[in-house]
Amino acid sequence: MGGRAVSAHEKLLRDWEKNAVRHESASFHILHRLRTVDDPGAVDALARAVHAEVFGQIDCTRCANCCKTASPGLGDAEVDRIAAWLDRPREAVIADFLEPYPADGRFRMRTIPCPFLGPDDRCTIYEVRPDACRNYPNTDRGGFTQRPRQHTWNTRTCPAVYHIVRRICEQLF
Ligand code: SF4
Ligand code: SF4
Repeated sequence: MGGRAVSAHEKLLRDWEKNAVRHESASFHILHRLRTVDDPGAVDALARAVHAEVFGQIDCTRCANCCKTASPGLGDAEVDRIAAWLDRPREAVIADFLEPYPADGRFRMRTIPCPFLGPDDRCTIYEVRPDACRNYPNTDRGGFTQRPRQHTWNTRTCPAVYHIVRRICEQLF
């Protein structure tokens, strides 16, 4: 009696990693089927609505799992933007935080978790964070149906994506 009420945020984060693994192949199968729908724009509209709904319930500042498990890529302009904001030479920023990624000629974070993640799980360069961070997890961008692998992968790194994909699957199939 009188137990603490469980918030929507807590409910959405409860067991999501375990459930994401359990649903992974089914999620991929359904997302892959979306590649051939007649009206991909309608799926984009649904994805945008569900994205807004889920991110209205999940607080990224109490999660930060993407910053703890992935290494976003960034290009020269983004490195310059961070260096200017930190008021440090570009080469010092690269030496301290980044490493070249020869496969695409860009940079990656030097460590995972991200070196810019603060002890309070907030981004210390939020205003100038890389575009990949700004856009992540890309579930509200057009072309949702063409990225089944990315969305499936992200169900295992981002609780919001897990719930977005589940809700889309439930509504469409
Ligand atoms: S993993 Fe998803 S829910 Fe968690 S902080 Fe990143 S974007 Fe937000
Ligand atoms: S730059 Fe900021 S938002 Fe991007 S991964 Fe690092 S801490 Fe997270």
